[in-house]
Amino acid sequence: MDGNALAGPLGEIMGTDLTVADLTCAGCRTTRRLAAMHVFDRAPGIVARCPGRDDVVMHMMRTAERVLVDLRGSLVLSLPAPTA
Ligand SMILES: [Zn+2]
Repeated sequence: MDGNALAGPLGEIMGTDLTVADLTCAGCRTTRRLAAMHVFDRAPGIVARCPGRDDVVMHMMRTAERVLVDLRGSLVLSLPAPTA
């Protein structure tokens, strides 16, 4: 799957459109659209990997009460500023 599969459920939680978010990979330091990441949902939760070197940039897990977003593989998550 591509990153749009992650942007949907994650955007729902964060209350914003994440298909236009940029993510900087901590592994190769490349900035790409979240939608360009490779997304796998067979691990516990959803894993997004950078297409460059397959670095894990985001891991999202859902429990009964919480949603956990592990961003240790990302340096920066960049979003367009909301318009007033
Ligand atoms: Zn990378």
